[in-house]
Amino acid sequence: MLRQVADGVLIHESEFCQSNAVVVQGRAGVLLIDPGVQDREMACLANDISHAGQTVVAGFSTHPHWDHLLWHARLAQVPRYGTARCAATVRDRLSDTGAKARIAEMLPPDIADQVPLDLLGLITALPAETARLPWDGPQVRIIEHQAHALGHAALLIEERGVLVAGDMLSDVLIPMLDLNSTADPIEDYLAALRLLEGVAGDVDVLVPGHGSVGGADQVHARIERDRAYVLALREGHVPSDPRVGPSAKPGWEWVSDVHNGQAQRLAQRRERHGTPG
Ligand SMILES: [Zn+2]
Repeated sequence: MLRQVADGVLIHESEFCQSNAVVVQGRAGVLLIDPGVQDREMACLANDISHAGQTVVAGFSTHPHWDHLLWHARLAQVPRYGTARCAATVRDRLSDTGAKARIAEMLPPDIADQVPLDLLGLITALPAETARLPWDGPQVRIIEHQAHALGHAALLIEERGVLVAGDMLSDVLIPMLDLNSTADPIEDYLAALRLLEGVAGDVDVLVPGHGSVGGADQVHARIERDRAYVLALREGHVPSDPRVGPSAKPGWEWVSDVHNGQAQRLAQRRERHGTPG
């Protein structure tokens, strides 16, 4: 079921990790950002879009992780954009014939047979540093950064005051750092938060890739909370964060394991390099 969060902007929430697909009304059809995860959910989304008398004219994937790279046969075959880095990363990871089988094995077992991988990762690269999404609809500003994954981008739908944050600024997921791809993942994350802070004044509605939609008051609050978390990681402190430990929302207890895992890997890096991060 589609739910309107701003004029001409609707979301479709998945049962898997409270993933949010975002539909933006354009002049000739809709833009679909991170369509979702399970077959029947994306089929439902395709139905909702066609019942509204609309067709999909463009797609966008916020980053090169499987749960943001899916597409459904019932959705129109249109350009599915991503940043140049996102597209290159996907191309690289899917380049060999065993790639999809490897991804299938990584999927959470309870939904693995419900995730259609046929159209996974068919991403059209935007030229590096493209500032706006090329489509016939409200202006969509691309805010690329290297925080959670290579080529991660948030989208600001300026005329609607909506920030689609990808896997940043979630009320349930902590900042999950990309510890494999960059030299200084902590600083990269802090830089990304500063970029988002720079547009925060223009945001009335915040849509995270996973978790609850927030209002204007949530934008700064979530930026501050994520920054506090990342700084605590850098210093090797235990973060006082409601998403970690006994205060985690029911069903999200595993986030504490993610936290412990990245805290441990950062501690190892500190030992090896003698520098934080
Ligand atoms: Zn995700």
